[in-house]
Amino acid sequence: MPRKPVTNRSCDNAQCTLRGQFGKGNVIRYGFFRRKRGRHRRYRCTACSKTFCSTTGTPYYRLQHSRNTFDEVVQMTVDGVGISVTARVKRLSWNTVARWRERAAGAARGFNYQMTHGYELKELQADEIRTLLDGKRQPVWVMATIEVWSRLWPACIVGRRSYRNTRAVIRETARRGHFEHLPLITTDGFQFYAPVISRLFGTTCVHGQVMKQWASNRVIRVDRELVTGSGHALDAALSRSEDSTDLNTSFIERLNLTIRQGSAYLCRRSPCHARVKEHLTNHLELLRCYYNFVRPHRALKFGKETRTPAMQAGLASRRLSFRQIFTAMLLFVLAWLDFETEKTRIEALKWAA
Ligand SMILES: [Zn+2]
Repeated sequence: MPRKPVTNRSCDNAQCTLRGQFGKGNVIRYGFFRRKRGRHRRYRCTACSKTFCSTTGTPYYRLQHSRNTFDEVVQMTVDGVGISVTARVKRLSWNTVARWRERAAGAARGFNYQMTHGYELKELQADEIRTLLDGKRQPVWVMATIEVWSRLWPACIVGRRSYRNTRAVIRETARRGHFEHLPLITTDGFQFYAPVISRLFGTTCVHGQVMKQWASNRVIRVDRELVTGSGHALDAALSRSEDSTDLNTSFIERLNLTIRQGSAYLCRRSPCHARVKEHLTNHLELLRCYYNFVRPHRALKFGKETRTPAMQAGLASRRLSFRQIFTAMLLFVLAWLDFETEKTRIEALKWAA
């Protein structure tokens, strides 16, 4: 008797013609295999004859510990706990924690790439955090943007504070969003923001700069300057804004603090800077995924519901968990529909709902 096909699994073999497709009748149950933590279901694709299990293609694949332990380690990571402390608390080896962090970051990167687009740009702020790499020899900058209305953190670049990186972070933010009214963009007085924004947006935005003068660790003077757009357009943009009454960079500065608190690498006066740039970049991808999709935002409390930035921006219908983000089904769809982003997002949202 032919076996009944499974509809909630898809094949992830790159050579398979039915890769990533659900409900095609090609996946059947194919016995069990034994692991340290009991027996696990094995599946087989009848189109390509390959077998796989429920965690193939996810960060949980071939894990020697429970998925809960993995999720707890990831949670500690995004709460600013370093690798050594995590390893001691969870009684794991340092290498295991480091490897899990990289795995989780890889999945978060794919998730961010697929899910963070289609938001509305109403008010945008951009800023940089300075940190050190490689035994304090090199200063590097974490350049981030925030969409103020939804508190979404759309893009982040780690590197030198150059024209190229400034352009990359603003372009990534603009490319993935859309706007109906002229967006209000506020930055600090860093030299490359004005030419980059002028080149990418032309006259279709209102750009203002906020320049602060510091003395003895205190702000002694704030200058606000309109770079692109008329005073009338600025007034209109500010009247549309639900959060700002004047040009300010408060929201991106608050995000910078959240980023610093969520990363052991970025603590002030820490001796534990990232040694390699990739580690910092990967960690920030994971943190961005957590901030946008998992963590409820206090400023987005509506009655009893506290939304995540992704919910406010219309990218997710509810608060997601790390388990959902890392789970096989979604990543299978993501891997297969790599370039058909709109279709992917609809599929992912349908599943997450
Ligand atoms: Zn197959």
